[in-house]
Amino acid sequence: MKRGRKKQPQEAPGIGDFRQVGADTAAGWSTHEKDERLVATHCCFCGVQCGMYLRVAPDGRVFGVEPRDHDINKLKLCPKGVTAYQQVNHPDRLTHPLMRESRDEPLRPVSWDEALDRIVSEINRIQDSYGRDAFAIYSGSSMTTEKTYLIGKFARVALGTANIDYNGRLCMVSAAAGNKKAFGIDRAANPWSDMFETDVILVAGSNVGECFPVMTQYFWGARDRGAKLITVDPRETALARTADIHVGLRPGTDAAFFNGVLHVIERDGLIDEGFIAERTVDWEEVRTMVRTYTPEKTGEVCGIEPALIEAVGRVWGEADKAMAFHARGIEHHIQGVGNVLTVINLVLATGQIGAPGKGYGTITGQGNGQGGREHGQKCDQLPGARAIDDPEARAYIAKVWGIDESELPGKGMSAVELIHAAEAGEIKGLIGLCNNPLVSMPNADRIRRGYDALDFHCQLDFFLSETAERADVVLPVTAWAEDEGVTANAEGRIVKHNKATEPLPGVRTDWWIVCELARRLGRHADKFAFDSPREIFDELRVASKGGPADYHGVTYERIEETGGIFWPCPDEDHPGTPRLFEDRFYYPDGKARFTAVEWAPPAEEVGDEFPMRLTTGRTVAHYLSGNQTRRIGALVQQTPRPWVEVHPSLGFVNGDAVRVVTRRGEVTYPALVVTTIRPDTVFVPYHWASPVAANELTVDDLDPTSKIPEFKVCACRLEPGVEITETPSPPVEAGKTPYSDAFGRDDDTRPPSVPQGRGTAQG
Ligand code: SF4
Repeated sequence: MKRGRKKQPQEAPGIGDFRQVGADTAAGWSTHEKDERLVATHCCFCGVQCGMYLRVAPDGRVFGVEPRDHDINKLKLCPKGVTAYQQVNHPDRLTHPLMRESRDEPLRPVSWDEALDRIVSEINRIQDSYGRDAFAIYSGSSMTTEKTYLIGKFARVALGTANIDYNGRLCMVSAAAGNKKAFGIDRAANPWSDMFETDVILVAGSNVGECFPVMTQYFWGARDRGAKLITVDPRETALARTADIHVGLRPGTDAAFFNGVLHVIERDGLIDEGFIAERTVDWEEVRTMVRTYTPEKTGEVCGIEPALIEAVGRVWGEADKAMAFHARGIEHHIQGVGNVLTVINLVLATGQIGAPGKGYGTITGQGNGQGGREHGQKCDQLPGARAIDDPEARAYIAKVWGIDESELPGKGMSAVELIHAAEAGEIKGLIGLCNNPLVSMPNADRIRRGYDALDFHCQLDFFLSETAERADVVLPVTAWAEDEGVTANAEGRIVKHNKATEPLPGVRTDWWIVCELARRLGRHADKFAFDSPREIFDELRVASKGGPADYHGVTYERIEETGGIFWPCPDEDHPGTPRLFEDRFYYPDGKARFTAVEWAPPAEEVGDEFPMRLTTGRTVAHYLSGNQTRRIGALVQQTPRPWVEVHPSLGFVNGDAVRVVTRRGEVTYPALVVTTIRPDTVFVPYHWASPVAANELTVDDLDPTSKIPEFKVCACRLEPGVEITETPSPPVEAGKTPYSDAFGRDDDTRPPSVPQGRGTAQG
């Protein structure tokens, strides 16, 4: 199909909306509406959670967006934010349940009764035959906190299975485990506004400009005030280009680097002995260990000049106030938790935490990456961020839920382990919500085998994802603008998403579906008699009371009044806790824990056969598995396909077909030649499906503690390719034409012409 927008009445709004203000849009409606309503809400995408207004026509259609002057984003939105509304009335939306009797048949529309009855009978059949734990839930963190709470309760109370986990397992769990171990609580330590008071900011493994674009204003605000910026990343990202020091280290060497920096600080007497003595334990072991990480030894491991390590040590060590941030770049490793702890060691050793301008934060990827990991959809956790193996927590939650404690299952399998267990025949049935593991999990071939081995698979989504397409039953659910509920952003600030419009005819909210399944299953059905998100939230508040993530004092009204409340917030008179650790850490003795972490190499070392390192990540126009953004015209036009980013020294030119080969598979991408990546490293963005999925290539080794996959490094080789692998259109129901094809991507194999901060070495 040729490039160029086709004008059809059923098309979703596209790039034309922004170029032809006042003219007819792609979908044939006007960009101006008389008597429009503005509904205050937040973006559905990343962990920044920008405030926005949705523009709603008198007939209820959501037709546009305006940025809100909210504390978080101050009138700014990124390309995903300004187009998010286009999902709501998108022609690809699912509007009826789909089902098939066998996987050889196509999915066909069925009634809600038929679909729900089938799910219930499959749950009963599988659990009667193989035991309760043979049926699993794989959930998501782009949903509101109410939904994530409810699905955790459903798994434990209605299904009685231990096996529930969520897609934050691919995202935040290394940060969560590191925070819990060091501080006794899993939340970013400071509000981002603290950045305006700091002198040094260190950002490790985060392409902020593309993954969290609106957060960039905080870094630039700090810089305007004179703060120094240090970035640590194998790629010189857009943010890195504005840094005072950029450390382009080898992927998989972060722990060595941070140990090396602490070596310099300790050697030069820049540690804060008073803070260490008063507020921490276990420093001596770390001190002894980092003394072996000389800049020379560390520089060799990291593939950087020792002088860079000295420079970072000096700038951080001499700072009056400093803050550190990190994201998936250091967390997506088999040593992900260890990497996090080495950053925390640096923060603790210099006393840079617990005061304005002194602090530490993890940057959550998903919109509700923080809230979605607090209230029970993690395999090892109960509401309030309580440990599932803590007898006191179990007794409390069992009481809130009105069940006997003995009925509460224990810890289950983590996300990737669940699908591997399906491949091994241990998990027989699965309900998936709000995720697309066929694109997002590592070593995609093995994930396909896992899903194919399931006796029964049901998927809930509002678009037909690559994973839903293979399911036995697909249930259509509401988009974010059609329901209300809370999320917690990367700062730990609880915000409220408001309903802007009624659900499309035929779709249901996820929470209604869960309650209805519980009713039909009949196990503790009375515990799921919820009529609204507010009722679920009110129970969640009680369930979280007294736990680390205490929401008891948070109400919808208080969130609306304040623009957001930071937990913990134990009662309605409590103002919330924007800055943690001012007086104490969350251990009984009030002290933080140092942990000595020796650097260990990645799961796959390079060698003669695979001499390069492959790293994967995101790009500004797309979100996670791309099931939402690969359907939005403006975003597809901005970034229609994946590419491989290579250094000029490798001899390729822009647009060359380059075959990337790993032990798991091979894909041929167009080359984007940049000077901003290490010559021994290549980068591929991961938002697209097979056969171009980056996860055809990635390794599926997991961090032993957090069980996060090592997305950020595996061994690969490059070869000149012949034909660039074709990028598939997103799946749609039988009989529909994928909307994104209107832009005709397949005859244009160039890498992105607008490099979005990456730059190209070749004009
Ligand atoms: S920065 Fe994140 S929350 Fe803000 S508009 Fe962009 S995707 Fe949405």
